[in-house]
Amino acid sequence: MGDPATEWRRVAEAVAEVRRDIEHLRALTLREVGAAEAGIFDAHLTLLADGEMLSEVKRRIGTGMGAFAAWAGCLADIEREWSELPDPYLRERAADVHAVGEQVRRVLAGGAAHQAVAEGILVARDLTPAETAGLDISLVKGIVLAAGSPTSHAAILARSRGIPLVVSAGREVLAVPEGTPVVVDGAAGEVRVDPAPPVVEEYDRRARELAERRARHLARASEPAVSRDGTHVVVAANLGSVGDARSAFDAGADGSGLVRTEFLFLGRSAAPDVDEQEQEYAAISAALGGRRTTVRSLDVGGDKPLPYVTVPPEANPFLGLRGLRLGLDRPTLLREQLVALCRVARQAPVDVMFPMVSTVSELVAARGLLAEAAGPDGVPPGLRVGMMVEVPAAALKIESFLPHLDFVSIGTNDLTQYTLAAERGNPAVASLSDPLDPAVLQLIDRVCHAARGRVEVAVCGESASDDAAVPLLLGLGVRELSVGPHDVPRVKARVRELDLAHCEVTAKASLVLDSAADVRELVAAKLGPTPHA
Ligand code: PEP
Ligand code: MG
Repeated sequence: MGDPATEWRRVAEAVAEVRRDIEHLRALTLREVGAAEAGIFDAHLTLLADGEMLSEVKRRIGTGMGAFAAWAGCLADIEREWSELPDPYLRERAADVHAVGEQVRRVLAGGAAHQAVAEGILVARDLTPAETAGLDISLVKGIVLAAGSPTSHAAILARSRGIPLVVSAGREVLAVPEGTPVVVDGAAGEVRVDPAPPVVEEYDRRARELAERRARHLARASEPAVSRDGTHVVVAANLGSVGDARSAFDAGADGSGLVRTEFLFLGRSAAPDVDEQEQEYAAISAALGGRRTTVRSLDVGGDKPLPYVTVPPEANPFLGLRGLRLGLDRPTLLREQLVALCRVARQAPVDVMFPMVSTVSELVAARGLLAEAAGPDGVPPGLRVGMMVEVPAAALKIESFLPHLDFVSIGTNDLTQYTLAAERGNPAVASLSDPLDPAVLQLIDRVCHAARGRVEVAVCGESASDDAAVPLLLGLGVRELSVGPHDVPRVKARVRELDLAHCEVTAKASLVLDSAADVRELVAAKLGPTPHA
């Protein structure tokens, strides 16, 4: 161990090396994946530049500690403090502290910040976003994590890089010896350790079949999705960045049914100004080849707080000041976003929709802000106004909303969470959160019934890409499905194999069943096990 000055220099150099690495990965991710995913690294860069934390490490070195012990001890204390905070968002940030702490520790211990891997399946306790983004996809054929959650940053990045991933596989997987054959089925969440040769053959066959099916779907991806009986269904994409818009265009998306604009606002210290927003929305529309783009107004608050928009602590953030509620509480923020959207809508086909609406007066107030934002020229004629149906109250009162709307988009992720009172993201109640629960389907039916012949109904929640849900949604009257860019070709193929008269009969029958499991059984029995021929 050197004197305090030498030990401090070691820390400073290790931090600088990790910063360079993360900046490199950030640039790579921005280019190859998208702005939303690249933004994940901003939190890590901010942490590495945290003056208070670095002073504390220096203070510990001053008391006679070595670089490694001072860094590791200080970071462990911060991680523990954060993981004990009541705010779930801040608690999650403890994982970021762990991630950067680990990277610097590895450099201080004399290792490289990244480790080379041989071709195969990567098994680990958990991965940091930086580690996931740094993986060589020509070598890593799959990932098995003992811990982790499907919505963690690492999981989002692995999926967007097309790496099959299984999370929460349990501690036992860590005991699997290096070199053991392992098969991973990311879609089914299955891991088979040291499988017998017939099992390997079976998975090989499945993998070949999947690849062939994907190639068939991609070959027809740019054609419209028309069901057997000749009904045209719009298959659009959910986007968070210009990179997503490019992927969606390549995957044949008929436009975007949901641009999650919050990604532009998160991970920074001030809101983007009107010009920056205008550029981003215009770039997304251009990357989609000018196809219709539905931009959702800012959906933050509650569990996704913005550092520059402070909200008093909430015991139940999902029932708090989120979505349009926050927008109306901070009208300047929402108005500026609407100014940017009006500018873009004068040049390109852009729609706006409002999230988390519960009352008609909220929608009327939002429309008032839009009129103000549009200025003396008025709201651009091509700018259609819609709302997301995510709250059961909105579905039940849909008749009252319709006179104020050009379209409706059902957010089944939140609609399911609020209908079943099962928080999305809480694994303990995950089995309750099935959008095919008859209660959710009855609400969708009610919306479609009221809207028929008046406004179009879209679905932009995850259920829009669920092979079992698609026939029911179409049978109830939905005519637009907005899904992840990667899923567009598969969902178009699913639409093409359906006959809407059959879908209507099955959908009607599903409304009176007892459970989501019964509904799934009915779909399998009546409409087959989704072969996508
Ligand atoms: C939804 O709630 O279904 C939805 C699409 O919005 P988000 O997932 O962004 O909350
Ligand atoms: Mg939602």
